[in-house]
Amino acid sequence: MPDATLLTGQVLSFTRSPFEGDPAGAVHLAEALLLRDGKIAKAGTRSALSAASPGATHIDYGDCVIMAGFVDAHVHYPQTAMIASWGKRLIDWLNTYTFPEEMRFADPAYADDIAGRYLDLALSHGTTTMASYCTTHANSVDAFFGAAGARGMRAVAGKTCMDRNAPAALCDTPQSAYDNSKSLLNKWHGVDRLTYAITPRFSPTSTPEQLDALGSLWAEYPDCLMQTHLSEQMDEIAWVKSLYPTARDYLDTYEGHGLLGARGLYGHAIHLDPRERDRLRDVGAALIHCPTSNTFIGSGLFDMAARVAEGQTVGLATDTGGGSSFSMLRTMAAAYEIGQLSGTALHPAQLLWLATAGSAQSLHMSGQIGNAVPGNEADLVVLDLGSTPAIAQRSARANDICEAVFPTIMMGDDRAIRQVWVGGRAIRNF
Ligand SMILES: [Zn+2]
Repeated sequence: MPDATLLTGQVLSFTRSPFEGDPAGAVHLAEALLLRDGKIAKAGTRSALSAASPGATHIDYGDCVIMAGFVDAHVHYPQTAMIASWGKRLIDWLNTYTFPEEMRFADPAYADDIAGRYLDLALSHGTTTMASYCTTHANSVDAFFGAAGARGMRAVAGKTCMDRNAPAALCDTPQSAYDNSKSLLNKWHGVDRLTYAITPRFSPTSTPEQLDALGSLWAEYPDCLMQTHLSEQMDEIAWVKSLYPTARDYLDTYEGHGLLGARGLYGHAIHLDPRERDRLRDVGAALIHCPTSNTFIGSGLFDMAARVAEGQTVGLATDTGGGSSFSMLRTMAAAYEIGQLSGTALHPAQLLWLATAGSAQSLHMSGQIGNAVPGNEADLVVLDLGSTPAIAQRSARANDICEAVFPTIMMGDDRAIRQVWVGGRAIRNF
């Protein structure tokens, strides 16, 4: 067995955040990566790495881009089969499409089927890590982690908790949410490359008692992540106000129950008050931008430039299946479009960074994933910059790597994914 793998192509990595200073100046290009023991051992020139490891298996990707696999910081794998469901806004969409589908996950065989289907779809779109909501059923968590573990993936998930304003078949209680979350956490957190996230769906579907119980659990296991939704639609915000009349604002319904912290992931976070923005930044929580979902469900425009300028940590996500795509390329394109509508054109380097290093930072996984540099785990995507005639004719005219990759961001799909590497292993040949 060869002891290493040499990949050659256009290896793209980041030397810093492209939101700090000239965006293009944050991009570093190398000719080759050397993979060993599931990690990136070296980056450099083709000749230097060939000489350093003459026994390595060499795979040449020509002028394809080799970069960190995409990191999707907010998905609902149980919504895979109901993606692109027509015509509703958030609350009606949950009641009409989401809850009936999530009830099917009481069947372990169905959960296994969808977990595998979702992960294969994600991988085929270049996504190597994601943070997923499961359903309220414990077996939905087992299905997801089992399937992610079998694929060798670094993944985050948690049992969704709800004890009101949802069908009885999907409701737990404060105590059972605590007990079941704790037992799943002890079963999966830190096993292989898996991370548990305590997961109250959002304030409208939890009583204060349930949020309290989950806040206590997080205090017992502070190295876990916590994921929830925040300020997605105006109707939802008004509903929260009526359900929590003494809360200062939506964020306070979490903060007052021990559910605000640096390892918290707050999905959407579009319509925030100044106090909420200050608190999120001060604790170092992550705002997870889900642009295809925000347009698909009609939620509003996340102001990326303003949030980054005020010092927020921001990740990027599909929000499958409120989002309309499994693809982080399509998600970057939607982020670009929402940026334009908000008055700021996000640079290609910023979009790529959000979809990799930015989301990894949100998940507290910088130094493991999200950047194709030595020491990180070898989770990689290989992008064909000419995957369709329309994209190829535009990228052929590009003057630099950022201009060359932008047509793939705007027009690309799973055809642009030449290959995915997970933990140093090519998991699929396309
Ligand atoms: Zn969501």
